[in-house]
Amino acid sequence: MRESPYPMVSVDDALASVLSRVAPLPACELPLLDALGLVLAQDVQATDDLPSFPAAVVDGFALRAADGSMARRLVGEQMAGAPVGLVVEPGEAVRITTGAPVPPGADVVIKVELSDEENGNVTPVHGETLAAGQNIRPIGSDIAAGELVLRAGQVLGAAELGMLASLGRSRATVHRRPVVGVFSTGDELAEAGQPLGPGQIYDSNRATLLAAAAQAGGQPLDLGVLRDRPGELERGLATGLASADVLVTSGGVSMGELDLLKPLLASWGTVHLGRVRMKPGKPLTFATLPVRDADGHIAAEQPVRPVFALPGNPVSSLVTFQLFVRPAIRRMLGVEHAGLPRIDATLGHRFRLDPERAEFHRVTLSRENGQIIARSTGSQASSRLLSAAGADGLLVLEQADGLLPPGSQRPVLLLNSDWLV
Ligand code: AMP
Ligand code: MG
Repeated sequence: MRESPYPMVSVDDALASVLSRVAPLPACELPLLDALGLVLAQDVQATDDLPSFPAAVVDGFALRAADGSMARRLVGEQMAGAPVGLVVEPGEAVRITTGAPVPPGADVVIKVELSDEENGNVTPVHGETLAAGQNIRPIGSDIAAGELVLRAGQVLGAAELGMLASLGRSRATVHRRPVVGVFSTGDELAEAGQPLGPGQIYDSNRATLLAAAAQAGGQPLDLGVLRDRPGELERGLATGLASADVLVTSGGVSMGELDLLKPLLASWGTVHLGRVRMKPGKPLTFATLPVRDADGHIAAEQPVRPVFALPGNPVSSLVTFQLFVRPAIRRMLGVEHAGLPRIDATLGHRFRLDPERAEFHRVTLSRENGQIIARSTGSQASSRLLSAAGADGLLVLEQADGLLPPGSQRPVLLLNSDWLV
């Protein structure tokens, strides 16, 4: 029997090894909507006061508090967006709309519903006490000039992007999205849409992994299928290293005769992980490789790229992607907490534990009597992608002997983040 030369490491140690070798990518400037979900690379301070003029909060009349309850003469109107053209003198009022600048002289705005307008005069309704400043947003009351409004490291969602727009910015400075190059390896693989030859199967990993890369926030790059031949793998690897920030391959890392990828990675760079104590996904391989030029030469200052060689079985490749590649992508994006979101769930039936490896069991979740119940998606064969299709998460089962009874609590790594609410 052939023995793998790579030590078996725990999932936690493997993840630590990956994360210690990736860093946030350099910053770039993007139009606001293109920056959605990306991480701000620098602090943002307000350059101006917001509002920059005292603004009416309601539709009504701008007037002077000191005039008390007497009727005022209506001398004009001040609409939102119009320049200020009036001064409010004692005994006067100006019709005003929400968001309009309050004209000089006025120090209060009364609501239209609380005023009586008659014959060109306006009177506050029965003894409304008028306090100066009422219904007026003072200059800088939402944001003061110089205030720190967003911090480097914040993920840009709708409110944050709107915030930038409110400061007049049309672009955001964010960590660049990593280009995630994905290729499949295997002589048996056929392209979806083409007829299958004898002994062939459709390549499902590329579709899965490209989609997972996009979901993680990466920029997916389809590098096609490589046959199990040394020259072809080398060409594909060199192209991938030159065009992607991170490479993800599937297949060719178990102990079969044609599993050529690990020795190739070892001769081109450094293999940090070759076996992880997990089910599925044991042959997960992680390496860092310097970029080569077209002739295969490594220039002195070439960057080093992370390369994930995932096992070929469809579920193994997806689970190892979610546990190791996704966090690497998130870290390159600048996200602080790079792992899948985790919740606790109650087992809806018994689960058998694996004495040799931690297991990531695909489950559906349901809410029953105030509890979140996890149930298996059925046969967990690593070839059966149907165990992952429709799954809400990965139930984390510890390496141990025996059975967990129904009602036990275990963590679930969420694949469907709608379950966070
Ligand atoms: P390997 O890791 O190359 O030994 O492949 C393990 C199993 O996964 C084999 O049954 C392969 O046929 C299957 N497999 C490998 N790559 C793919 C792929 N891209 N899509 C679907 N199945 C695959
Ligand atoms: Mg193969």
